[in-house]
Amino acid sequence: MSTLPGSPFLQRRADGRLYFEDCALDELAREHGTPLYVYSRSAMRAALSAYESALAGRAHLLCYAMKANSSLAVLQLFAQAGCGFDIVSGGELQRVLAAGGDPAKVVFSGVGKTPAEMGQALQAGVRCFNVESEAELDKLSQVARALDRRAPVSLRVNPDVDAKTHPYISTGLKGNKFGISHQRALDVYRHAASLPGIEVVGIDCHIGSQITEIDPYLDALERVLDLVEAVEAQGIRLHHLDLGGGLGITYTDEAPPAPDALVAALLERIDARGHGHREILLEPGRSLVGNAGVLLTEVQYLKPSEVEGKHFCIVDAAMNDLMRPAMYEAYMAIVPCAERADVPVETWDVVGPVCESGDWLGRERVLAVREGDVLAILSAGAYGMSMASNYNTRPRAAEVMVEGRSAWCIREREKIEDLFAGERLIG
Ligand SMILES: *Cc1c(COP(=O)(O)O)cnc(C)c1O
Repeated sequence: MSTLPGSPFLQRRADGRLYFEDCALDELAREHGTPLYVYSRSAMRAALSAYESALAGRAHLLCYAMKANSSLAVLQLFAQAGCGFDIVSGGELQRVLAAGGDPAKVVFSGVGKTPAEMGQALQAGVRCFNVESEAELDKLSQVARALDRRAPVSLRVNPDVDAKTHPYISTGLKGNKFGISHQRALDVYRHAASLPGIEVVGIDCHIGSQITEIDPYLDALERVLDLVEAVEAQGIRLHHLDLGGGLGITYTDEAPPAPDALVAALLERIDARGHGHREILLEPGRSLVGNAGVLLTEVQYLKPSEVEGKHFCIVDAAMNDLMRPAMYEAYMAIVPCAERADVPVETWDVVGPVCESGDWLGRERVLAVREGDVLAILSAGAYGMSMASNYNTRPRAAEVMVEGRSAWCIREREKIEDLFAGERLIG
């Protein structure tokens, strides 16, 4: 058995084939076609229990940040495990309800909530609105009053710390569009407490994504606790502390802290400053699902280039299926589902069929491949399917969940007719 970056549930066995739990991935590809997302239920459960055990004995709520992977069967798994959800749209709220999630465990984040979405979330009875601006606060108060309700609110504060991650996924620095600046937060809390449609219940921060160190979290925590003390000194009670998500995973050689190590460090600091009685909310996304998924794709053509050194391995998955490489220049490991010794190892750029030079999945990968082989793109469980599009009129991939030897199709491959079902010709 060889070790692969990511999930212990993903193994190459003595027969040279890649297995997720006890399912051979080349077989799943044959049965369900490619491109195909495959998720491990045990890997998702294990990721969740790492957080849960570290929080045991504390008032807490884990709110899975479902934008990482919002497929219904994934939400169902977390809902059944007692998880809450961090949502960023009314559409995500509808998904939570469709999957059997409890709206009373939902926190609603995002800088651009519309009045309609606010109304929908109030009617559903969400746990908390994480408010990101003063204008949003006023709007929410109006919407709540019109419905004769009070909206439970945390202010998302921007602690101005550097999460040391990619600029597109860093959210806690001043100059980001997210949150209310640390300097303004106290005034905004005072204003919130005076609004008839608002009930202040907590404080929230989320500093970025794919964070691989504990220190930025502790820096943010210190600043948030400073604020908590200042806010409570004004007589405004804050029940819960929501420290967001953002913990990174191993795509190649990153070594992020384990969830339990991160949580232990946070709790220690919280206790040391005398805030141990507060309920803790966390909003992990990527770290719950990222390493629990792979994307399978079939090699269509090999195109050794006349230009020195550039060989293209053209596969049937593309940027519309998996946007991370094109969008963030993200590295994702790519391995064959079945090892072969009958072709030489070469260096390939693994690219999709979409008409963009940005449509690549991996650059300069050393692989022994032939046409028709199935490759697995690892750590594709987060921000893979949930960011997929229909660019180039490509139907979105199918999804399969495995556990042990069982495999369930949890999403059919989209049909071309579905793609233009809502369109109309003129005349
Ligand atoms: C995206 C997001 C998360 C989750 O981030 P991950 O890096 O996937 O853990 C949590 N909270 C908020 C507000 C987010 O926008």
